[in-house]
Amino acid sequence: MTPPNSTAASRHHKRPRGEGQWALGYHEPLNKNEENKKNDDGLNVRQRIIDIYSKRGFDSIDPADLRGRMRWYGLYTQRKPGIDGGKTAILEPEELDDRYFMLRVRIDGGQLSLEQLRVIADISNDYGRGTADVTDRQNIQLHWIEIEAVPDIWERLEAVGLSTTEACGDTPRVILGCPLSGIDTEELIDTTAAIREVHDRFIGDPAYSNLPRKFKSAISGCPAHCTVHEINDVAFVAVTKDGEVGYDLFVGGGLSTNPMFAKRIGVFVRPDQVADVYGGVIGIFRDYGYRRLRHRARIKFLVNDWGVEKFREILETEYLKEQLPDGPAPEEPRGNRRDHVGVHQQKDGNFYVGFAPKVGRLDGDKLHLIANLAEKYGSRRVRATVEQKMVILDVAPDQVEGLVAELEANDLKVSPSTFRRQTMACTGIEFCKLAIVETKATGIHLIEEMERRLPDFKDPLTININGCPNSCARIQVADIGLKGQLVVNDKGEQVEGFQIHLGGSLGTNANFGRKVRGLKTTVEGLPDYVERVVTNFESQKKEGESFSD
Ligand code: SF4
Repeated sequence: MTPPNSTAASRHHKRPRGEGQWALGYHEPLNKNEENKKNDDGLNVRQRIIDIYSKRGFDSIDPADLRGRMRWYGLYTQRKPGIDGGKTAILEPEELDDRYFMLRVRIDGGQLSLEQLRVIADISNDYGRGTADVTDRQNIQLHWIEIEAVPDIWERLEAVGLSTTEACGDTPRVILGCPLSGIDTEELIDTTAAIREVHDRFIGDPAYSNLPRKFKSAISGCPAHCTVHEINDVAFVAVTKDGEVGYDLFVGGGLSTNPMFAKRIGVFVRPDQVADVYGGVIGIFRDYGYRRLRHRARIKFLVNDWGVEKFREILETEYLKEQLPDGPAPEEPRGNRRDHVGVHQQKDGNFYVGFAPKVGRLDGDKLHLIANLAEKYGSRRVRATVEQKMVILDVAPDQVEGLVAELEANDLKVSPSTFRRQTMACTGIEFCKLAIVETKATGIHLIEEMERRLPDFKDPLTININGCPNSCARIQVADIGLKGQLVVNDKGEQVEGFQIHLGGSLGTNANFGRKVRGLKTTVEGLPDYVERVVTNFESQKKEGESFSD
């Protein structure tokens, strides 16, 4: 007999719609990306690249590998030249795909030996038409890579301890670390060993190679908080408790179209526990992360729904099987710049020299030059920053002047203007298939124009230029954040331009920039716009006020 009100009862008790969390039994692939990952793990494409695709050429590549699994090894097809931003959203992926790849070399902790730097430089010159950009996640990206070259590139990289494994894709990507780890006079702890352990335990492990989405990590003892822990999926930030140095844990930061700052979990993680806790967090993401809708798949949505208390409880009870003690919050960041540009003394009495290429744009010859200059002035170590800059370590006091002079003479500024020092740009339409506007050349032109127009401007001012809403160069946390889109110019024509976000910042008063409705500029009008904003600010600012105040 059918019970009375059965329809209402079943409706009432209907299982809530899942979001694709494996831990709750939702294993069915719910979209194309999940289906591809279930069909074959991204890591498995490596052997096909070596055995088949590199031998038979671009046309032999399975489309599911081409637009999916290749990313597990840092390979993205780049944008076909000449396709304007208006077509980005309306063309099929294959119409945007060029036959060349962007290749991302992961540099965990941003640490490079001269040998490693020279290998990347050689690959850039031999296979990448000389392209090389240092990114805001301490990677170096090359372009124009042909599939035939990939096995040789991997061989060369792996021979010096570098790789492209999980540089992109739904994986644990590069682990950010302070470029001054081990040498900064004020650092709380050298994170090199922790980064190495996390890398060795989790990168390339098939148990963690099918995450709901990308996973960005940082481990830092930097007093300037240079690894931007506020906007990583997971971050360990050094703290001191009762005289012992360990880490506070932050989870769930990320920008893109739903920006969220990471939430402080407030536990004290001993240095020897970092890898286990990392494994717990990444395990939660793999098992409980939302896989149904790609735009809700980052860990920030889960953390936001659960809250800090529940996240901590699940981490401790299901993954670590132990309680973590409460810990203090990190101290306020030192200074208002996180880029480590300039000449500063190290713990051992030597100096480090941080310098600024324009918007991270370098090339193979420049990378060789940097390695040669480092060597000439007695250094064996170079590092990439999280602000598209680089640092040469271990320069003896009597060698600093000569190194600075040669860097400056080669347009690698050690004392750059604010505009060069604090302007970043994502890849943009030159190579990125999602882009709507050009960014790198726009950024370089903007820096040069502003240096010419406002040579005396010295205050901190971050300008982050993005080619689309994805916020790879952090639209929402810059003083002036620029989001690429088509805008209408004075003549009523649709042209490349930017939606403007104002007043974003990280640090103690972390704050997302305000999107002012209707506040847009064309690419052409950008220098005028920035000049107006800066001039107004200068004329109205109060004593000690910075732009983001
Ligand atoms: Fe490409 Fe957009 Fe990211 Fe720029 S912000 S690199 S245009 S996806």
